[in-house]
Amino acid sequence: MTIMFGPKEEFLTSLSEIGEFPLIEHLTGSFKTHHKETILGIGDDAAILKLTKGQCQVITTDLLIENVHFDLSYMPMKHLGYKSVMVNLSDLFAMNASARQITVSIAVSNRFSLEALEELYSGIAAACNQFKVDLIGGDTTSSVTGLLISITAIGIAREKDIIKRSGAQENDLLVVTGDLGGAYLGLQVLEREKQVFAVNPNNQPDLSSYSYLVERHLKPEARLDVINLFAELGVKPTSMIDISDGLSSEVLHLTKCSNLGAVVYEDHLPLDPQVISTCEEFNMDSTTIALNGGEDYELLFTLSQKDYPAIKGNPNFTVIGHITREKEGVHLITRAQSKIPLIARGWDSLSKGQDSD
Ligand code: ADP
Ligand code: MG
Repeated sequence: MTIMFGPKEEFLTSLSEIGEFPLIEHLTGSFKTHHKETILGIGDDAAILKLTKGQCQVITTDLLIENVHFDLSYMPMKHLGYKSVMVNLSDLFAMNASARQITVSIAVSNRFSLEALEELYSGIAAACNQFKVDLIGGDTTSSVTGLLISITAIGIAREKDIIKRSGAQENDLLVVTGDLGGAYLGLQVLEREKQVFAVNPNNQPDLSSYSYLVERHLKPEARLDVINLFAELGVKPTSMIDISDGLSSEVLHLTKCSNLGAVVYEDHLPLDPQVISTCEEFNMDSTTIALNGGEDYELLFTLSQKDYPAIKGNPNFTVIGHITREKEGVHLITRAQSKIPLIARGWDSLSKGQDSD
């Protein structure tokens, strides 16, 4: 083998030209599976392994990097530990699976103290206790700069209970849990305070009027309660995904995986009053924030219309639209009744160096 040093840029393709999902497809598209228990590999919130008759294991992994996914100047280590577990459990719940085990791998630079890592693990422990998840291993190594956290989560589910991205049917209702845009605005509030603090370190921020937003960013809760609610109500969504990158991006994933189209109604998007008031203050459009703000970790799912009575009036759920034929595309119906194509402007870590996962 000849090893050559030096630039060969003229032959290379910049990653910013590709985008995250086409990149994954490009790199992994030619891989074939070798084992019959691998019943679903790449392309959903988690992979599915069929272990015994009717029983499956569900596996997902996420990597979080300092100053890409989190900023330690306003993210306490304990919250970071908790959130790192949440983003993984959210992917398991998006498959309608129950969470069982996690592995946690970290890379740390010598900037970090033992006490800081104890804090990180106290957040991981809080998440494990709250969601009854076992920490079963991981890896620890050094990094040149900053902190990296990679968590793999393992869940179980009966095969017949699993909900994929691909099961939506024409005329199904499109439903979201909770409300949207809060986590993104919480991040904007914290970023603003960071700038203020840089100019005047004696200035203690008063975040009381943004408390919900800041909590949405710092302490997201994976929606296990919703999974339990489905069982209680006796409904099974036809497809499901968690909202990590932003609603638009996730609607496009569901419709692409199901080979269908969709309409979303602007006036149905669920917004917390703090989202509305803060958007006004920041001069931002609340619809844009609800569609494209990431990290809410709510669930987006499709439901057969016959199941509508079971969820009707339930404060956890908002019907935001419905599924159409593929050739009708994916559109937003605005308050003014105009129809505009929905595009994914989620946080693309490869093009903007912003939060994404
Ligand atoms: P999510 O947002 O639900 O965490 P991602 O968008 O990160 O999912 O990933 C989409 C799919 O691509 C998943 O099935 C994931 O396992 C897979 N994937 C992502 N990155 C890679 C990679 N580098 N190699 C192989 N599979 C990947
Ligand atoms: Mg997901």
